[in-house]
Amino acid sequence: MSHIDRSSPEFRDALEMYERAPLLELGARADAVRRHLHPESVVSYIVDRNINYTNVCVADCAFCAFYRRPKDGEGYILSFEEIGAKIDECKALGGMQILLQGGHNPYIPFEWYLELMRYIKQHHPIHIHGFSPSEVVFFSERYKIPMPEVVRQLRDAGLDSIPGGGGEILVDAIRERVARKKAQTDEWLGVQEEAHRQGMKTSVTMMYGMGESHADRIEHLFRIREVQERTGGFTAFICWPLQPEGTAMADHVKTDAVSYLRTLAMARIILDNVPNLQSSWVTMGLKVGQVALRFGANDFGSLMMEENVVSAAGTTYRATIAEMERSIRDAGFTPRRRRQDYSLLEEPLAAAAA
Ligand code: SF4
Repeated sequence: MSHIDRSSPEFRDALEMYERAPLLELGARADAVRRHLHPESVVSYIVDRNINYTNVCVADCAFCAFYRRPKDGEGYILSFEEIGAKIDECKALGGMQILLQGGHNPYIPFEWYLELMRYIKQHHPIHIHGFSPSEVVFFSERYKIPMPEVVRQLRDAGLDSIPGGGGEILVDAIRERVARKKAQTDEWLGVQEEAHRQGMKTSVTMMYGMGESHADRIEHLFRIREVQERTGGFTAFICWPLQPEGTAMADHVKTDAVSYLRTLAMARIILDNVPNLQSSWVTMGLKVGQVALRFGANDFGSLMMEENVVSAAGTTYRATIAEMERSIRDAGFTPRRRRQDYSLLEEPLAAAAA
């Protein structure tokens, strides 16, 4: 149950700004927050690989075109060797991390995940950014292990940080409609907080455009800010719009670039305690991604070698490292590669690797 007071002056002011402030004024305010937090004109990015270890899922999210029900002939679970080969390819391109996420597959034993962590660390060492809060809650319920213990066991086996996948809109009335079988708001944020308590950093997301109100989006941002005030464990916020094509929500109108820029700017203004905001050029395209750098974003996200979940549903954009770096430069910034914790690497990646 949310305790955010929607009638408070602060909430009402934020909503008013989101709905009524002129676009460029909103951008200027967000840009001021960004410049205060990141005075240097650098835009960072990371090279990584999204590895979806299984597409079998029983969560049935209405917005998902990626998953297959159990017994579907197209369902898969990657072997450790296949995952290892993908990591090697990622490292050969200068990749710094893998983003390891999958469906809620009831046929995989918990030991498999722990073994996988140990296997990766022993044979293909790399930073493992894996298992969204929704997956952690699923593991806890499925294997009847208390959630903090799931986090601890995964961490001890090799998990380095947790991605903010499955955040969608952190308002239970919306989650009930679009992702009823997945972690609800308090559970989802509870995993984040527990991970922070156990010394792990995490990222946090918002997928909007599912018929929620503007107030729901503002509440989502307020909930994140509140957790961050307690823990300081969020490294970055990323938002993107629903990609309705090919999903059970195909009748939803896709939101536009202006909505994206307004939402991103509000995130930068409200989440002034979250250090980094990513530009979601993979869903919005490189041109909007460039504009986003003047609406609060200071990071260009990742050059993802694979993006199965978003690309299964509609348009996604791809670019080489050289194209990404050129886009950042053309927008007036210096591109710099970073690690998962947002610390910058010394040398920019040679364009030849693109
Ligand atoms: S979004 Fe994730 S949890 Fe939801 S159906 Fe797709 S794979 Fe399953």
